[in-house]
Amino acid sequence: MKADSPKSPAELLATPVQYLKAVGPDRAALLQRLDIHLARDLLFFFPRDYHDLTQLESLAQLEENRPVRLRGIVTEIDQRATSSGGSVLGILVQAVGGNLRAVWFNQPYMQSRLAVGQDVLLAGKARYRGGIWEMAHPDVQWLDTDQDDSHSQILPVYPLTEGLNQRALRRIVRSALDTCLAALDDVFPESFLAAHNLKTIHQAVADIHFPVDRSALAAGRRRLVYQELFILQLALAVKRHQQRDLRRAPSLEATARVDARIRRLFPFELTPGQQQAIAELTADLARPQPMNRLLQGDVGSGKTVVAVYAMLLAVAHGYQAVLMAPTEVLARQHAATLQDLLTASRVRWALLVGGQSAAERREILDELRGGQLDLIIGTQAILQQSVEFARLALVVIDEQHKFGVRQRARLRQAAIDPHYLVMTATPIPRTVAMTLYGDLDVSTLRDRPPGRQPVHTYLAAPDQRQRWWDFFRRKLLEGRQGYVIAPLVDDSDDADAASVARCYEELACGPLEAFRLGLLHGRMSAAEKDAAMDDFRAGRTQVLVSTTVVEVGIDVPNATLLTIEGGERFGLAQLHQLRGRVSRGTQPGYCCVFADAATDESQKRLEAFVANSDGFQLAEIDFSLRGPGDLLGTRQHGLPPLRIADLQRDAALLEEARRDAQQLVDLDPGLALPEHQRLRRMMLVRYGRALDLGDVG
Ligand code: ADP
Ligand code: MG
Repeated sequence: MKADSPKSPAELLATPVQYLKAVGPDRAALLQRLDIHLARDLLFFFPRDYHDLTQLESLAQLEENRPVRLRGIVTEIDQRATSSGGSVLGILVQAVGGNLRAVWFNQPYMQSRLAVGQDVLLAGKARYRGGIWEMAHPDVQWLDTDQDDSHSQILPVYPLTEGLNQRALRRIVRSALDTCLAALDDVFPESFLAAHNLKTIHQAVADIHFPVDRSALAAGRRRLVYQELFILQLALAVKRHQQRDLRRAPSLEATARVDARIRRLFPFELTPGQQQAIAELTADLARPQPMNRLLQGDVGSGKTVVAVYAMLLAVAHGYQAVLMAPTEVLARQHAATLQDLLTASRVRWALLVGGQSAAERREILDELRGGQLDLIIGTQAILQQSVEFARLALVVIDEQHKFGVRQRARLRQAAIDPHYLVMTATPIPRTVAMTLYGDLDVSTLRDRPPGRQPVHTYLAAPDQRQRWWDFFRRKLLEGRQGYVIAPLVDDSDDADAASVARCYEELACGPLEAFRLGLLHGRMSAAEKDAAMDDFRAGRTQVLVSTTVVEVGIDVPNATLLTIEGGERFGLAQLHQLRGRVSRGTQPGYCCVFADAATDESQKRLEAFVANSDGFQLAEIDFSLRGPGDLLGTRQHGLPPLRIADLQRDAALLEEARRDAQQLVDLDPGLALPEHQRLRRMMLVRYGRALDLGDVG
């Protein structure tokens, strides 16, 4: 390192790692692979785990068959064959208070991982045997320490790359801390830290790497997690502010007269959940600022009615509304629903989907532009191209999870902004909702229309097929209808189409040969799909053999039977969506899943599916089964991944960060105060582009 001129904090943080003590050009090249280039990258290269050397025991404290943790140095290794042809690997470990043996039976590969001189942590149960304490098959952690670590009670464990071991990485991180920790700037003002009981950034970064004890680690981690979540929530709060308070939308008041006129159209009493959601929506719509609301509810909870209410409210005020569905099948179904509801009304509406003639399409587009149409329904794909409205006031997006949130922005380019209502196909865990949809207000339908029957769900072994098909046929003969979902092959429509065709053949020549079967998959033309759905809805076909095209939204109340083949291939949310297809009428539904190739993981998922019928609960279970890995598919949603926060573990901190961020934006909406400049900069660097935050203030 060029040692002469004193460096500024910014320069120190930007020191190329190569110039750090303990690095050099070779290691710098290795660090690149871990995406570490500058000294500051090392400060924020967080351990993936820790070796906790507190609460270790000495030999004197051991008791038979009690779980213990001991640390020691490997002093001897021997492997021998047993008379029965197996092997025994034994090691001698020098621990506090004496020697102890650890043994492994028939695990010869363990030998290659052990070496004399290693510093190891053993966990397991010990027995006193032949004059010595012995642990069979203990859990081993290789501490890989050097002198610098000798005082540490909690050792960081970093993600590694070939050629760099823990010892080296610890030394490198230490040297980065020595060089530039002090140069870090705290994004939070001091008073904020004090008020929220947060450590300084310096203390927190030091403690996340080399904590003196558990509580130091917890407090350091808390500060860093809080910061990460706070910055995200700040970005979302700013986005909300921009979307809501800085824009203008038509004010659509639900007067008593209009309200009564709309409600008269519905052939049923609204559920309390629907009433509540409508109340929340109409409060938003009455304001001259755009609504941005997410409506979530379990499958079959009746979200469509809420959307229709909002659309008719827009029409009553002389504006237009648009309903976008993820698939054509679903768009057509919504059209059918509107057809029924609006027979006696003067509302002018149209369906815009693929497969219409050019002339037909042009006419619809002209009428939309000219204001002769009040409502338009179509797929997102079509409605986003070249559609112009005369007086658009409301955009409803159904089954949002098929889209990716960020596309919402698209239709907003007109002079005056429309209100937005986004409906999700599946409930999502609360913490995920606060993150992915954190810039939206949320309404939730927790109840379902009265009279709904449960869906009996079974996970069946292959040898129960016969019985299931017997039952399936009997129900068909009683007049019910059913779906059969063919195994998902991969992400290609072609392969799935082939799988459905095969499944159809097998059924038509086998267990269901006496029945009228229909076929539905993504490779069929729009007209064919349409015909297949119509046939099924009208009962001309009794069984629909399909891909997950039927997953979203399809509503045929007489269909009560569902067979899912290859259930191990489906996600929990998808399974629940599929099951939603047979819980629509007044007859109980029956769902049978076959999963001939279930792994442990998919088995757990399937068992959860069978045991739970509540979508909100399943969403939480799904989240916990999948773990923090690709937790939300943030990337798919266009948000950078979280680096240290875990939305499950840190749920409480997330609530806190969200509240605090909102408070700050209420106070200083443009983040213009001098003490907020660092927060503002960090927020823009991290989320400015993903959330399209522009200049802010
Ligand atoms: P989802 O929330 O899954 O989109 P839908 O809006 O498709 O659910 O509604 C499912 C079914 O419930 C439809 O057949 C709809 O007509 C019916 N439905 C909705 N609300 C009520 C209600 N309040 N009472 C009775 N049936 C209702
Ligand atoms: Mg729906």
